[in-house]
Amino acid sequence: MWKKLPLIWKILIGMFLGMVWGVLAHALGWDKFTTDWIKPWGVIFLNMLKLIAVPLIFVSLISGIASLTDISKLSKIGVKTLVIYVLTTVFAITVGLALVNIVKPGNTFPEEKKIEYQQKFSESLANKKSVAEQKKQQSLLHFLVDMVPENVVKASSDNSKMLQVIFFAIVFGIAMVLLPDEKVSTVKRFIDGLNDIILKIIDIFMGFAPYGVFALLAALIVDFSADIALFKALGLYFLTVVIGLFFLILFFYPMLIRIFVGIKPGKFLKALLPAQLVAFSTSSSAATLPVTKKQVENELHVHSEISNFVLPIGVTINMDGTSCYQAIAAIFIAEVFGIDLTLGQMLIILLTALLASIGSPGVPGGSIVMLIIVLTSVGLPPEGIALILGVDRPLDMLRTAVNVTGDSTVASIVAKGEGLINNT
Ligand code: ASP
Repeated sequence: MWKKLPLIWKILIGMFLGMVWGVLAHALGWDKFTTDWIKPWGVIFLNMLKLIAVPLIFVSLISGIASLTDISKLSKIGVKTLVIYVLTTVFAITVGLALVNIVKPGNTFPEEKKIEYQQKFSESLANKKSVAEQKKQQSLLHFLVDMVPENVVKASSDNSKMLQVIFFAIVFGIAMVLLPDEKVSTVKRFIDGLNDIILKIIDIFMGFAPYGVFALLAALIVDFSADIALFKALGLYFLTVVIGLFFLILFFYPMLIRIFVGIKPGKFLKALLPAQLVAFSTSSSAATLPVTKKQVENELHVHSEISNFVLPIGVTINMDGTSCYQAIAAIFIAEVFGIDLTLGQMLIILLTALLASIGSPGVPGGSIVMLIIVLTSVGLPPEGIALILGVDRPLDMLRTAVNVTGDSTVASIVAKGEGLINNT
C-alpha cells in the first residue's frame, strides 16, 4: 500500500510523523537520540538535493538556451522574465509594508525582552555584521564583479555562488547558438543525455524524500522546543509575516495564474505542493530546484525550453517571500526601537529589499546578511536583527516555499506568452 501511495502523500505523512516524533521525543527526553540517529538522515537528504543542484542548473540552462535557435528569441524571453520577476517582487514587498503598517507588531514588544534578546544573539550577530560591512564597502558595481567567476570549477564548488555558474552556463549556451549546427550537434546530444541522467537521479533521490523530511522536521522540533518562550514575545511579528506569506501563496500567485495562464488555483496549488513541502522542509530554494522543475514540467506542463531557463535564474534572483519578510522585519525593528520612518525611507526599504532578493543565495538563512544592509540603508540599528533571529527558522521555511512558488508562477506566465505551456 505504501508503495502505491502518490509521492505527495508520502511526503505529507513523513512531515506529520516527523513533527509528532519531535514533540514526543522532546517530552520523553529523547533529544540526543533524535539528534544523533534521526537528524543525519535529514542531512543526507538535504545533501542529495544540494549535490544535484549545480549540475542541474548548469546542464538545464545550457540545454534550454541551446534549444532556442536564435539569439533574439533568447533576449526577448530573458527581458520578459526579468521584468515579471521584478514586478512580482515589488508587489510582495508592498504587501509586507502595508501589512506591517496596519498590524504594527513592534508596538507591543516588551522592553525587557529587547535587552535579553540582544544579549542572547549578540555573538551570531557579530559575524553577520562584519560580512554585511564588507559588502557595504564594496561599490555598487561589485555586484556585477561578483557574477563573473574567475574560475569556473571554484564557482561550481560553492552553492552560494550559483549566479556565477549561471553566468558561465548562459555564455556557454549563447556560444552554442551562435555556432553552426554541425559543429555543436555532438555537444548538444551529450548535454541532452546528461540532462536526462540528472532528471533520473532526481527521481531516485525523491524516493527518499518522505524519510528525509521526517528526519528534518523531527530534528527541527527538538532543536526548537527550548525556545518556545521566544514565540510568545514575538507572536504578533511572527503572525504578520505568516499572513503576508500565506497571502502570496494562496491568493496572489493563484490569481496571476488564473488571469495570465488560465489554470485553476486548486490545480496550480496541488501541482506545486511537493515542491512547496520540500522547500518548507529544507529552507533552501536552490536545493528544492530539482523538485520545482519536475513539478512545473510534469504537472503544470511548462515546456522544458522555458523552465530550464526561467527556474534556475529565479532561484538566485527572485525571492518574493524573502523580500516580503524583509520589509516586515525592518519596520518591526524600527517600531521596537521607537524610530519613525518617513515615506521616503519606506521607499528606500522597498528598493534595498528588491536588491536583497537578487543578492541573497537560496540557502537556509541566506537573506539575513542582506537584511542588515536593508536596515542600515535607512539608519536602523543592525542589532535589531537579534530580536528576530530566534524565530527565523520557521519563517525561513515558509518564505522559501513562497520563493519557489513565485519562480514557478513566472515560469508558467512566460511559457504561456511563448505558447510553450500545455494547459488544456
Ligand atoms: N532560505 C531562503 C531560500 O532559500 C532564502 C532566505 O530567505 O533566507 O529561498
